[in-house]
Amino acid sequence: MLFETDDHQRLRQQVRDFAEGEVTPHVARLESSAAVDTILPTLIAEQGWIGVTIPREYGGMAAGHLAKTIIIEELSRVSGAAGAIAQASQLGVAKILHFGTEQQKQQWLPRIAAGTCLPTIATTEAGSGGHVLGMQATAQRDGDHYILNGSKKFVGNSHVGHVHGVIVRTGGADTRPSKSLSAFLVEADRPGIRLVEHQPAMGLHGFSFGDIEFNDVAVPAANRLGNEGDGLHVAYSSSVLYGRPNLTAVSLGIHQAALDSTVAFVKERRRYGAPLADLPTIQHKVGLMHHRLITARQTAYHAVHLLDRGDPCDGKLMSSKYGNVEAAMDSVRTAMEVHAAAGLRTDRPLERYYRDAACIYAPAGTGDIQLLRLAETALGDDRGQWSERLAHLTALAPQAPHSATSTATREHAA
Ligand SMILES: Cc1cc2nc3c(=O)[nH]c(=O)nc-3n(C[C@H](O)[C@H](O)[C@H](O)COP(=O)(O)OP(=O)(O)OC[C@H]3O[C@@H](n4cnc5c(N)ncnc54)[C@H](O)[C@@H]3O)c2cc1C
Repeated sequence: MLFETDDHQRLRQQVRDFAEGEVTPHVARLESSAAVDTILPTLIAEQGWIGVTIPREYGGMAAGHLAKTIIIEELSRVSGAAGAIAQASQLGVAKILHFGTEQQKQQWLPRIAAGTCLPTIATTEAGSGGHVLGMQATAQRDGDHYILNGSKKFVGNSHVGHVHGVIVRTGGADTRPSKSLSAFLVEADRPGIRLVEHQPAMGLHGFSFGDIEFNDVAVPAANRLGNEGDGLHVAYSSSVLYGRPNLTAVSLGIHQAALDSTVAFVKERRRYGAPLADLPTIQHKVGLMHHRLITARQTAYHAVHLLDRGDPCDGKLMSSKYGNVEAAMDSVRTAMEVHAAAGLRTDRPLERYYRDAACIYAPAGTGDIQLLRLAETALGDDRGQWSERLAHLTALAPQAPHSATSTATREHAA
């Protein structure tokens, strides 16, 4: 397949075998309980896959972003929740790779790569989703510590994560907005942290994307990522270089599953004395789903292939997130039409794909946010690419960093 090496194909087969053998038996339980699952996160982390982009010197696979896409896609083909669990902590790696000190890398990356530590990133709040600078959570310096207060919402792996990457406000009223936030590594067992009771969502059952409260949580200054004021950069770079392609991959896996189950259905289902697949309107719908999937996969793989080369590709990462989510949601709707009443019952997986696909719209930027960013790129209003600044850190053939045109970032939306 496009851009895939033999190593990628071996990895795909390995993940597919794992997903079909080890994840499938859990799916019915996840669906019926809708509680936070603690078994799959451990099983997935034990494979070493959270460390897929972590360099070998820290015990990681150093296999890059296309390999990460393949891992998430294959897990999501069997269970959107399993793919979401993997991607959320792979996303949590980004901030440490991009902004961590050597000491922070030595402390956290080997444990993450070994599968004994799941990182998260906690940016979203009740009053700030796409509008990151609207956040209210704060960190006040107190000697060699900071004291964190506030609440984070929809944090991927919130209830199973071991170290949260928390973005909070450190600047005062006179601080430039883009320098008003800072990022911290906060161990999940620090006093003052409270996990809000899990609230089941429409889809991705078993995956916790829940809420965390911080009440006077003392965090050593040594846990700060980057300089004071780098928080917006930490949030944006993680979201663009890891969040977008990760959610793209979840979408891709669900999309593939919807096509596979529809193909099986139209061959098995008989109407007018023949398989449903013989009807021209059904063929048209299956063809349309296949077309969407091929196009979606090409854009997804191309974008992460560029990331693996260390090439500038922010626009392509955003475009593929937008296109993949739209295409997958269109296809699950088409699949529902083909299945008609049979698609609604829980004895088939289609209604799960439908619900799971809808959950991928918001994270790492809604469709509106991707289009806003793409418009800025087209209009020449963007202020430099994160891939230009940081892709060399995970590139498969390491290159010198591109000369970034600017280190500034947008000040108003993620
Ligand atoms: C499955 C899942 C996993 C998640 N994982 C994480 C995680 O790991 N960490 C984390 O911090 N958060 C996470 N989130 C939260 C996610 O990042 C937010 O949902 C997302 O940023 C959108 O924020 P919001 O839902 O508050 O919507 P809002 O930002 O309030 O948007 C509401 C509506 O306004 C539109 N809108 C907003 N701003 C603009 C604009 N500037 N121009 C045009 N339209 C606009 C949006 O498109 C949307 O239609 C997750 C969410 C989900 C569903």
